[in-house]
Amino acid sequence: MFKFRRTRSNGSPSPPTSPHVTTSAVNRIGTSSSVVTGTPLRLHADRFFDPDPAIRRVARELYAETRELPLVCPHGHVDSAILADNSPFPEPTALLIIPDHYIFRMLYSRGVRMEDLGIPTRDGTAVESDPRIIWQRVADHWYLFRGTPSGVWLAHELHEVFGIRERLDGESAQRIYDEIAEKLRSPEFLPRTLFEQFRIEMLATTDAAADPLIHHNAIRASGWSYGRHRVIPTFRPDALLRIALPAWTAELRALESASGTTIRSCETFLSAIAERRRYFASLGATATDHAVVEPYTAELTPEESERLFQRARNGDATADDQRCFEGHMLMEMARLSTEDGLVMQLHPGAFRDHNESVYERFGTDKGADIPIVTEYTRNLRPLLNRYGNDPRFSMVLFTLDESTSSRELAPLAGHYPALRLGPPWWFHDSIEGMRRYHEQVSETAGIYNTAGFNDDTRAFCSIPARHDLARRVDANWLGGLVTRHIIEMDDAREMARALAVDLARETYRFPMPAA
Ligand SMILES: [Zn+2]
Repeated sequence: MFKFRRTRSNGSPSPPTSPHVTTSAVNRIGTSSSVVTGTPLRLHADRFFDPDPAIRRVARELYAETRELPLVCPHGHVDSAILADNSPFPEPTALLIIPDHYIFRMLYSRGVRMEDLGIPTRDGTAVESDPRIIWQRVADHWYLFRGTPSGVWLAHELHEVFGIRERLDGESAQRIYDEIAEKLRSPEFLPRTLFEQFRIEMLATTDAAADPLIHHNAIRASGWSYGRHRVIPTFRPDALLRIALPAWTAELRALESASGTTIRSCETFLSAIAERRRYFASLGATATDHAVVEPYTAELTPEESERLFQRARNGDATADDQRCFEGHMLMEMARLSTEDGLVMQLHPGAFRDHNESVYERFGTDKGADIPIVTEYTRNLRPLLNRYGNDPRFSMVLFTLDESTSSRELAPLAGHYPALRLGPPWWFHDSIEGMRRYHEQVSETAGIYNTAGFNDDTRAFCSIPARHDLARRVDANWLGGLVTRHIIEMDDAREMARALAVDLARETYRFPMPAA
């Protein structure tokens, strides 16, 4: 295969720092910078800003005011066990590569086998198990990430969190591996220490409805005074609503044992769910999360919902039954939200496991989820008519279909008091995706009908990188509004802060920190 790898220059290495290199608060944790022997890794102080000097000047000023703000993380997928155990992170490959489907899907798309990247198979067949070989393979292909958000995030992570000062490529791979591995063994890199150094104000994880939340309980019971009340679960009952899937019966059993009830009717099913929601809230949860293929909502009569529930119990539910049941249950989840105050997040529009053979061999979440056309206006009308005007209800809506942003989502959020738009999600959580989001949404809905930023990541060490990118893109967008005299600088300052922290706190009903 033709390679685009960098040929290493033999000139004398540049100094590890230059006026263009930033040193963030994260990097104050005592990481000594590495000696540069490869191509220097530089983070330009003005990265992602418009080259127009007028916009750039304002963007710099706004970013300077938000860069040090705490990180509010109301939606993400960090494993709560890492903070409960506070054990050292494993070696670099297990930390940075194996769990990240953004990384291995790109390599897979260029012909690297998943087995060679150490992705575990469903049947337990052996895959590459030497983390250094996997790391080398990824580094050999790192050029694939040029101009992508993954490339931007990892550069930030390496530079700011791990103090790496040379670029990752095939030649530098083993040195960088050694340097990260050594740091991971030091107390400064324990998960809780990093959590504090990142200045995470709140971190919500995403948890299945029947999850006993043992790690959340352990964190609350621990002596970790900084983080004890900052790590919270999110209630995600998707699997319980997918009644046509063979796994549904096991999900129902899990709900029964978690709630200590026998569930024979749709009514007891719903009360068990309501009870789980209360349990999650008792451990700090402020939100639920729902992933559906389409945001279809429609209320069924009690007889109809009971009939579908019984078909599911008998293993007879069809895909069509599931669609009706999910549509009904979303209505029920909104109703429960009006009672228990949990904010309802809706994430539609992903065609999961598009690649059959990858699914057969490796299972879900392997980078084979592809966005589909999504319709919101008609699908959500029943739910919004019933609950969209209710001051107790709050819904955060996400999309993978950008064509709906200006046509449907911004007008809906610009009307219904209960509705907020989630930040650009997944494939759109990028420099250009965020810019397009502001273009498509912010004029009609205004930023105050959005939920601010969330990082939506399972990669703990990438959290600061993702917030930094968002703050820079927001500062730049606001810089454009100021220089075109659409808004004044004092408005822009407040908007930058709102986008960075306040909107997320308010939307997710987090406590406002004392001034
Ligand atoms: Zn998510």
